Order: sequence, then C-alpha cells, then structure tokens
Amino acid sequence: MADTQLMPIPGQVDPVPVARDITPRADGRVDLMGLPKGRIAELMGEAGLDAKQAKLRSKQVYHWIYHRGVTDFEAMTDIAKTMRPWLAERFVIGRPNVVEAQHSVDGTRKWLLQTDDGHEFEMVFIPDADRGTLCVSSQVGCTLNCRFCHTGTMKLVRNLTPGEIVGQVMLARDALGEWPKGSMAGLDDAEDAGHYTADGRLLTNIVMMGMGEPLYNFENVRDALKLVMDGDGLALSKRRITLSTSGVVPMMAKCGEEIGVNLAVSLHAVTKEIRDEIVPINKKYGIEELLQACADYPGASNARRITFEYVMLKDKNDSDEHARELVRLIREYRLPAKVNLIPFNPWPGAPYECSTPERVKRFAEIVFDGGISAPVRTPRGRDIDAACGQLKTAAEKKSRAERDREAAATAAE
Ligand code: SAH
Ligand code: SF4
Repeated sequence: MADTQLMPIPGQVDPVPVARDITPRADGRVDLMGLPKGRIAELMGEAGLDAKQAKLRSKQVYHWIYHRGVTDFEAMTDIAKTMRPWLAERFVIGRPNVVEAQHSVDGTRKWLLQTDDGHEFEMVFIPDADRGTLCVSSQVGCTLNCRFCHTGTMKLVRNLTPGEIVGQVMLARDALGEWPKGSMAGLDDAEDAGHYTADGRLLTNIVMMGMGEPLYNFENVRDALKLVMDGDGLALSKRRITLSTSGVVPMMAKCGEEIGVNLAVSLHAVTKEIRDEIVPINKKYGIEELLQACADYPGASNARRITFEYVMLKDKNDSDEHARELVRLIREYRLPAKVNLIPFNPWPGAPYECSTPERVKRFAEIVFDGGISAPVRTPRGRDIDAACGQLKTAAEKKSRAERDREAAATAAE
C-alpha cells in the first residue's frame, strides 16, 4: 500500500491506513475532483499563476466541474484557448473507474467502482416514483463487523478521499445524463439556473449507506458533502442527504453541527445482548448512550426526524416484545423518529435468515400502533445483488474463475 499513510481516524482507537487527501496518480497530474475552490486556487498559484489569475481561474474551473459536469479543460469555453492545455498538463478532473455497471429489471442500477490505486467499492442508484436515491460508499470495506452485513466480512482497506466520495455523485450524474447541455457562453444566470434545477432530474437524494462507516471517515465525508451541498457546486439540499451510522456516538453531535444532514441510525436491536452480537460497536457505545446522542442531535425535529434502521432477522430481533420495546425506548428518549424496517438481504454464508413476511408485518403494526411511522423497505435490485458488498464479491469470484481458466489454458499449452 504505497499510497497510504498511517493516520488515526476520529473515534477510533487503533490507527488504520487511510488515504491522503488526493490519491496520487501515475502521470503526476493532480486530480481536482473533491477539492474546495480555495485549494484549487492554491494549486494553480503553486503551478505559477499570480493570485488574481488563480482565484479567477479556480472559480471558473469549479463552476465547470460541479455545475456542468465537464471533465475536459478544452470544453471550458470562457477560459482562454492557450490556458486550457496549460491546465490539462497539470490537472485532471477525475471520476472513479467503472469496473462493472449493472441495471436491474426494476430500474435499480449498481456500479462496482475502483480508485486510481486499484481498490474496489460500490455505488447503487434506486429510482422511485417521486425520487431517485444514490447510495454512496465512504470506505473500502469497514472496520466494524456487523454480523448480518456483508461489508463487515471485508477488511477495511482504506478511507475514500473527498474526491472519491463526491466522484460517485458526479459519475451517477454522468450515467443518468443529468448535466445541463450546451455551452455556458450566451446563457444568462437565470436561464442557466432554471435549466439546472429543471424538474425531471432522476438523482434527487443521497444516502451515505454504501460500504463503510461514514463517521469513521468524518472529515472526508464532511468535505465531500460540503461540495454536494454548495450552491456553487452540486447544490443539493441538506434535507435530501442522509448519513447512516452504526452508532459512533462521539462523532454524532459533530456530524449534526458540521454537516447538518439527516441522520439514520442502524439500531437493529433493542437489548444489549442482541445488539452486542449483531452490531458489535454496541459494546463500546451502548443503546442508552446512542439514543441520548440521537435526542441531542442538532437539527432533529418532528419535521426532520431521525430514521432508525432495523434489519429483520428471523428469530433474532423480530418478536412482538422487541417491537414493543422499540416503541418504549423511542418514547422514553422523546425522539422525533421513524423506523425503517429492512428485510434482511441474505448473502452466501450469512449466519441469519430474513424474518417471514407475516412477522415483518406484525412487527410493523406494533410500531405503527405505538404512533411511529414504520415503513417496510422494499427489496430492490435483487437480480443484480444490489445489497451492500455483494457486487464486489461477485466480481472477485468472477475474476478468480477467470484466473483459473487462464491457468488451465496455460497448463494445457
Ligand atoms: N455503516 C453505516 C452505513 C452503511 S450500512 C451503517 O451501518 O449504518 C447501510 C445500512 O444497510 C445499514 O443500516 C446496514 O445495517 C444495512 N445492511 C447491511 N447489510 C445488510 C443486509 N444484508 N440486509 C439488509 N440490510 C443490510
Ligand atoms: Fe460497517 Fe455498516 Fe456494515 Fe456495520 S452495517 S459492518 S458499520 S457497513
């Protein structure tokens, strides 16, 4: 891992390898993706532009990157023709590499992506009638080992950089064809803005629910989401972004203060014994502490409720008693909450099964009768294994099979 260095992750006791801010490229050029405007100006200054020029050019380039989705300096028509090759020699505007893209019969799309230094991670797009949600990864693998989660069986390879995180949103916009068309020249601001926010765009919401624990990669996730929320950037409202955590209690207030997005908490169990087993971070930060941190979450209100995710595991966490205890806890902490019941998505070798549909229905009724909204999440993209961590494994299997075939062919020669 020549491209990583040891740095502590906030809230994490043991240092784990994490990437630098920018993943170095073999060609020596700097990827501007994920860098704030000020940093782009700094880099342009270091490359030789005077301060005034650097500021102007960084503003233009930033606009082209996030507002227009442009990846080629040649397309930046308001930048002098002679300046464009100068930029292209020094900088690139990158995207994660696509290893595999799949399209489900129900419209769900899934991508297996790769960083410039060869690590694979995933992204999923889920279209619904009234919204389109992009599920974004924050890490390659995960340090936590939730027993029902496939990502939990992988080792943490490293944190994704801000560029690799916001790059997922950029790539989804590319794939969905959602950049304003045409050249910026000749468009006045009003027309431009109208075009950009036109209804009918598919990607309307972002959830940090892909691979990894976002609060163990806090700074990079924050910096990426700042670009997503920036009015001069991707301009997505914080109300349309949800960060899901398994319960990294010491980082939750900071998340509310510095990012301010909606919070989802992977609760999954209401007793210490069961949560210790299925969400082991519970041994460090228990249910009471977690629910208190939810009660204190900046910005939570009845209009902006906290989502509790609850994966339905047969004979494990799905009894009537568990449902009643869930209602009691939410009331005790006076939480503005909704509960998302998630049918367990099985993977080969998983130690659990999904609860029966009748059980899920009964559980939902009890929570609902307790005055709490409790929708059951419809499984999506099952035909393309659109559950956390599964595409990556399928691709690894395939490449192993391919390697075996190659080995057999070589042996036969
Ligand atoms: N690490 C964060 C965010 C990523 S996991 C977290 O744990 O919240 C996103 C959600 O998918 C979590 O609620 C997780 O519990 C759920 N999940 C993981 N594997 C699953 C599976 N096999 N079936 C159903 N839900 C799963
Ligand atoms: Fe990591 Fe979330 Fe999976 Fe737990 S559920 S192992 S925290 S990705």
